[in-house]
Amino acid sequence: SVRPPITLKELASQMKIKASEIIEKLFKQGFSVTLNEMLDDTSIILVGDEFGCQITIDRSQEERLRVTEKSIKEEIASTDNGMLVSRAPVVAFMGHVDHGKTSLIDAIRKSKLAAAEAGAITQHIGAFRCHTKHGDITILDTPGHEAFSAIRSRGADVTDIIVIVIAGDEGIMPQTDEAIRQAQEAHVPIIVAINKADKPGFNPDLVLRQLADRSILAEAWGGDVITVSCSATTNQGIEELLEMLALQSEILQLVADPTTRARGTVLESEIQKGLGNTATLLIQNGTLRRGDAILFEHEYGRVKTMRDERGRHLTKALPSMAVEVTGLSEVPSAGCEFIVVGSEKEARKLAEERLAGVKRENLRKTTTTDLQSFFLQHAEKKEKKLLSVIVKADVKGSLEAIETMLLKIPSDKVRINIISSSVGVISESDVEWAKASNALILGFHTRTEPAAEDYAKKQGVKVLIHEVIYHLIDEVKEEMTKLLDKVRQENEVGSAQVKMVFRSSSHGLIAGCQVIDGIIKRSNIAKVFRGNTKVWEGDINSLKRHQDDVREVSKGLECGILLSNFKDIQAGDVIKAFEVTYITQTL
Ligand code: GDP
Repeated sequence: SVRPPITLKELASQMKIKASEIIEKLFKQGFSVTLNEMLDDTSIILVGDEFGCQITIDRSQEERLRVTEKSIKEEIASTDNGMLVSRAPVVAFMGHVDHGKTSLIDAIRKSKLAAAEAGAITQHIGAFRCHTKHGDITILDTPGHEAFSAIRSRGADVTDIIVIVIAGDEGIMPQTDEAIRQAQEAHVPIIVAINKADKPGFNPDLVLRQLADRSILAEAWGGDVITVSCSATTNQGIEELLEMLALQSEILQLVADPTTRARGTVLESEIQKGLGNTATLLIQNGTLRRGDAILFEHEYGRVKTMRDERGRHLTKALPSMAVEVTGLSEVPSAGCEFIVVGSEKEARKLAEERLAGVKRENLRKTTTTDLQSFFLQHAEKKEKKLLSVIVKADVKGSLEAIETMLLKIPSDKVRINIISSSVGVISESDVEWAKASNALILGFHTRTEPAAEDYAKKQGVKVLIHEVIYHLIDEVKEEMTKLLDKVRQENEVGSAQVKMVFRSSSHGLIAGCQVIDGIIKRSNIAKVFRGNTKVWEGDINSLKRHQDDVREVSKGLECGILLSNFKDIQAGDVIKAFEVTYITQTL
């Protein structure tokens, strides 16, 4: 009896077998596992079967995997009032392209950060904090739409207020409507920034009317939606916008408990030279401290360093602060929640257990743990061709997008097997792995290390790198198609009647024919019919008109046909000619 989660190493020692033997056996079955990897149910049963012992799986411990059932909001709501303190609002800027989101955020950053600390070098970490008379504000400067959507699509709520940026000289455009819709769906209050006030065509009244058409009533129109005219170019109205944000947040009564262990959401993540895996975390409850062990979804870490947008190293971060942390096992995805746990060891164990759980769940969906049906399914799958791939990309978000798209390529005939996907450049070990598993390497916004490039050439490993996701997917489709056997197809192109048969000393039996239909080509294959019965099938050895070899003869003409090795051709037979083509199958 084994109690998952269990690593291969642990299982090996329980079974008193060498781990390397297990790895080898699993590899032969198409599973590649490493020593410290948590095994899924199928692998465990498979190992038992391979080594001739019956393994039962005891799953009584699984409940432990949930660190907490409550969402961050629920957790705060159930906290004793005495512990709660007010926190800064987290603000996102959204709107139509070119209406000035980036410019406004830049203008705020410049005026605020530079004023606070002359000559400070600021860096992009995905969010920054600014100070107003009415309190602090955290501004997300991950380019509005995409980051917000990515985070939202994972179900995370990070924004308290959304600034809808509308260029006052253009008015509401399609993406403005989209932004409004997203804010409404997420139940996040909006403030409207009517930007480009310095431009000649600036017409805030038009914007107010357009908003009213959408049932969004500005304060000036007797409603409760705050609108501010501003200009990112002249800084006009920017201070007012910030104050309005701070005031709006007072109404929202945003609170958190700084005394508890930290929880929050990943805003951005990337691998940085010299720093390794980094992520910008928005603290939504509790306090994050340097040295804390954090658990993401399947990633974990121990906060090694923590910096704010001014590059200052911090020892702790409070609710609504965004900090860039290092010390992570892998890069977590934007929108992924994190929580601080007791120790790094615990974090790691939980992360790996969860991952094994996911694998198990996936397997449960496709197969029962009953071994026989598993093998049946396996056999079935083997009939499909398999295209194995290793995916590398610049950021985690792209990886997920690529994986989803790869798995969505519709095909009854080819199955995609993603052997691994990770962030970074394509290295020699990727090539080695690709070679061992007969896989392609797919790169998106990444490159191949020079040594790996040579190695790939030498090993005959194909590396496809693209900057546009659709191009990458298209090329994968091509590769999938190449795996399919071509289908042989015969088309009748002509027929000839045998008038008489004569023997040539050098060639053997020649059928003197008249083409009665279509064209007969030397390259065709022939089928000989006597009455309704096919008596022979084979190649046309030669085709003659008078004494000359010709490539084709058309209807009405007479010709001599020499069939390869057919000694029984008779007058009255009909020779039908077929063209053979090999058609590429579609996926
Ligand atoms: P985004 O696509 O919404 O992020 O828009 P950008 O911030 O990139 O701005 C688009 C263009 O509008 C840029 O050329 C900016 O210089 C210009 N722009 C942005 N804000 C203003 C403004 O207040 N006044 C004027 N005149 N131009 C602006």
